[in-house]
Amino acid sequence: MLRQLFAVIAGVLMAQVAVGEPLALVPDALIDGVSDTLQRDHAVIVEGERIVAVVPTGDLPVDIERLELSGLTLMPGLINGHEHPLIYGDDYQNAHLSGSSAYKALLGLAALQGMLHHGWTTVRVMGDADVFFANQDIARSIREGVHEGPRLTGAAHYLSITGGGGDVNYLSPEQSVVSDGYIVDGSDEVRRAIRREIKYGSDWIKILVTGAFHSVGDNPMNVAFSPDELAEAVAEASRHNVPVAAHAHATAGINQAILAGVRSIEHGTYLDDRSIELMVEHGTFYVPTIYVGDFYAGSDLLLAQDKNDDVYLDYRDEWLRRIGKAHRAGVKIVAGSDLGGYNMDPRAYAREIAVFEEAGLSPMAAIKTATSVAAEMLSWQDRVGTIRAGLLADLIALPGNPLSDLSLLENPSFVMKGGAVIRQSPAADTE
Ligand SMILES: [Zn+2]
Repeated sequence: MLRQLFAVIAGVLMAQVAVGEPLALVPDALIDGVSDTLQRDHAVIVEGERIVAVVPTGDLPVDIERLELSGLTLMPGLINGHEHPLIYGDDYQNAHLSGSSAYKALLGLAALQGMLHHGWTTVRVMGDADVFFANQDIARSIREGVHEGPRLTGAAHYLSITGGGGDVNYLSPEQSVVSDGYIVDGSDEVRRAIRREIKYGSDWIKILVTGAFHSVGDNPMNVAFSPDELAEAVAEASRHNVPVAAHAHATAGINQAILAGVRSIEHGTYLDDRSIELMVEHGTFYVPTIYVGDFYAGSDLLLAQDKNDDVYLDYRDEWLRRIGKAHRAGVKIVAGSDLGGYNMDPRAYAREIAVFEEAGLSPMAAIKTATSVAAEMLSWQDRVGTIRAGLLADLIALPGNPLSDLSLLENPSFVMKGGAVIRQSPAADTE
């Protein structure tokens, strides 16, 4: 009887509802990922792996099992739009050369589990420092239920030109190593690399359109790939219905990538007014990854420390101003922390969301960068990123109101993925 009642409430067919009795999550407040205001006196009913209804608390059936989330704000699980779970050292290119793919997979799994326990229920991998396909193997073992972990999507490798941001540029020419990125030169190699990426499970293509800040020996102000190579990348990926994410710092690289048809711009450090216009016109998503540079600024942890500090100590305020302008113009901004895996404190990933407030986004807009807008970038808006009937029950609860303090996002008290409780503080009680 109860099951029928909830099917009616949710407007979903019972056939879609997995086994398991319905559970009502009863928080103090609710952020659904799309509304502009926080809601009070609402409960979320979960059955099996899905949300089946969002109802006023007073309308809950008296005999439903309740999980009281007293003092907590319930919201969608966080989506991290830019991560490298296998990168486990600050000098990541040396770490790449000394760690096998299997070792990286073991550390990467632990890193991803740390992310999940800190509220990141979905992670987009933006290429990783790995010769093989460790993230795809991790994703497989999570899907098969062998290991706990977030939902994973993304690219196995970042495609780089010879001498580009994915190449190891500090060894003598006599030395032969397999670089951290996937080195391709010319349209034929781009095409072959994309086919191989997709064959082994990449559902995004990541391409280093310009040089990078944390790699040695290349220049982020230079455009790496030719227009032909870029066009080939988007054309080939599009034939397989796989989107392209473009790492781009230099203005010319950003604008060329948008015009070529990539789905997201990563970093976009030197975006100009034309970039903003183009992103609005083409519906391109923008993943700035600001906090990683703050994290390393003024440290001596990076092999390419000077390049990082040039931006984050001198240009950061101007960059934030441009990000705010892009947001106001309607560019869809997504949170991506770009911090890497095992060597990170998992609380650090959410600091990217808080930095958006410095760029002029409201706290609610900043939260949407890691929920509904991020889901739209993944084309997963019918699966995750908001709280509504029919979506997967990926939910977190925070000890207070994140709209008055975004740092609460760093350490949720409660994490649920697909209806399964991953983490629960002692304060939450089941009646
Ligand atoms: Zn990155």
